[in-house]
Amino acid sequence: MKILITAGPTREALDPVRYLGNRSSGKMGYALAKAAVQKGWECYLISGPVDLPWPEAMAGEKVESAQEMFDAVERQRENQDVIVMCAAVADYKPREILQNKKKKSSNNWQVELVRTKDILKHVGHNKKKSQLVVGFCLETENLLESAKKKLDSKKADVILANPASTLDADAVTLSWLDVSGRKQQWQEGQKEDVAVKVIEALQNYCESRQHV
Ligand code: C5P
Repeated sequence: MKILITAGPTREALDPVRYLGNRSSGKMGYALAKAAVQKGWECYLISGPVDLPWPEAMAGEKVESAQEMFDAVERQRENQDVIVMCAAVADYKPREILQNKKKKSSNNWQVELVRTKDILKHVGHNKKKSQLVVGFCLETENLLESAKKKLDSKKADVILANPASTLDADAVTLSWLDVSGRKQQWQEGQKEDVAVKVIEALQNYCESRQHV
């Protein structure tokens, strides 16, 4: 099995020293990548800037911006069996990146933000029939309702939903929603342990699809 995983936040530059970012730690994505390798899968990890050490002997690359993550996914997605988009990709980026550091003045600084590309949506809408596409959903309200909407709008096969308290934490509560209609609050525990369960469940899901 070949699996592609995105992890961590992205950084959207405002000028050479400032950026817009988020609190994603990358812990869940890295735990998934390690669990996949332990299971004997071939894993390619695409990570935003995180403080975690790169997992030993892990194939992959580090990127900064949503556009760089999009490009890296585009280069890798063709031959994957499973694609898990775990990264907290910025939804907005500054319309322009200043060439030089913005000088402080007495005026306010108005920045116009424009949409980034939705990587999961692009991957879901362009997947091969044999590929399993998995997304994450993190919200502060209406979590399961949002997860269902994302399953449809992004054409994902599975959405794993977690509350915002998960950000940068060591533990996670995950709900599983899939296109067959299965929906359950599913796993709770340390990210390393939950990641092993997720990889097992994805393996089972792939195998059950092959028998349909
Ligand atoms: O739409 P929302 O950002 O809530 O969706 C979350 C899911 O979509 C996650 O799996 C995340 O990795 C993915 N995503 C993405 N590219 C974006 C925004 C989100 O791949 N620009």
